[in-house]
Amino acid sequence: MNRSDFPILSRTVYGKPLVYLDNAATTQKPQCVIDAIAEEYCSVNANVHRGVHFLSTQATELHEAARERVRTFINATSTTEIIFTRGTTESLNLMASSYGDAFLKEGDEVIVTEMEHHSNIVPWQMLRERKGIILKAVPIADDGSLDLEKLETLFTPRTRLLSVCHVSNVLGTMNPIRQLADIAHAHNAHLLVDAAQSVPHFPVDVQALGCDFLAFSGHKVYGPTGIGVLYGREALLDMMPPYQGGGEMIARVTFERTTYERLPFKFEAGTPDYVGTHALAVALDYLSAIGMEHIHEHEQDLTAYAMQRLAEIPDLQLYGTTPTKDAVCAFNINGIHHLDLGTLLDRLGIAIRTGHHCAQPLMARYGVEGMCRASFALYNTREEIDALVAAILRVRKMFV
Ligand code: PLP
Repeated sequence: MNRSDFPILSRTVYGKPLVYLDNAATTQKPQCVIDAIAEEYCSVNANVHRGVHFLSTQATELHEAARERVRTFINATSTTEIIFTRGTTESLNLMASSYGDAFLKEGDEVIVTEMEHHSNIVPWQMLRERKGIILKAVPIADDGSLDLEKLETLFTPRTRLLSVCHVSNVLGTMNPIRQLADIAHAHNAHLLVDAAQSVPHFPVDVQALGCDFLAFSGHKVYGPTGIGVLYGREALLDMMPPYQGGGEMIARVTFERTTYERLPFKFEAGTPDYVGTHALAVALDYLSAIGMEHIHEHEQDLTAYAMQRLAEIPDLQLYGTTPTKDAVCAFNINGIHHLDLGTLLDRLGIAIRTGHHCAQPLMARYGVEGMCRASFALYNTREEIDALVAAILRVRKMFV
């Protein structure tokens, strides 16, 4: 890995070198991903599937090769288990809609956690309004770890699904997915994993994890925006109805009756983002060439270093202090509003995120309106964390 693979990292903001620590929101793109998008539009572009002409065949091959690339990246057993979506949010909405139709009746229960992103809360609430399901949330301890004892007590014979983030986008907590899969399955429930914050950071193997479904976003994994993935076990996906209707997802249409395509196309109505899928595959190739283990090791070092350096700052409150934590540090400083801190750091060239991080129930859990969040990627360095700490100390002086 070379920082120069990422052209944007060499730019300045307000005349200062850019220190980009907002990677949980989106990652920057390596040149190979940017080139893949331009090259496909320059020399291949044609709509995929069903086309008989040369370009369409080539575009289809790239698109389906991307599906195979995603399959190997997360170790799914078959490409029929890889559904392309617009991102984690759409994957989770697909689940609430289609899994909801197939498997959930009034009074059935879905369990989420207090640390979920809104995209793993709101679709279930919308389903609750439509169908009368029951939504429960597992509490978390002060350090940001899941209360597993309490989780066990939430299951009843009506519990159908446990839906949890692999890594919290605020606390960085890495949830014990294999253990959660065993707990869910022991209660005859399925496990859905929101892997938006794990797939970019360490090896994710859906078979080893034992999950039934898993969702992630391309743009958080150094790929383009607007493309994402839902993995599902084939036997379950087979039982689920289509999510949207239109072209690509049908076998045969008459006014009397329509039959649907086989997996995975049944879930992919309309022209897919075939340029996005190819560019995503290029991003995954890029990551594999570096090695996900290597990326994890580097980001674990950055996380531990950042936690240690941030803790040196007077009046700084850290959120999410579990030992199993990855790539995210959330904090507040007594007496400084998170928005003020973020805005002033920005003037010093440091990009962090402030606010509720699409996790308002989690903010309520900690009794705050918002937090500051620094989040790391493979290209970040200890020097950038030093720059963050120095800038926070400088801003703090303005308030004390
Ligand atoms: N889940 C988690 C844990 C996230 O961090 C995010 C984005 O920040 C999402 C879901 C939603 O991802 P997207 O906006 O790419 O659909």
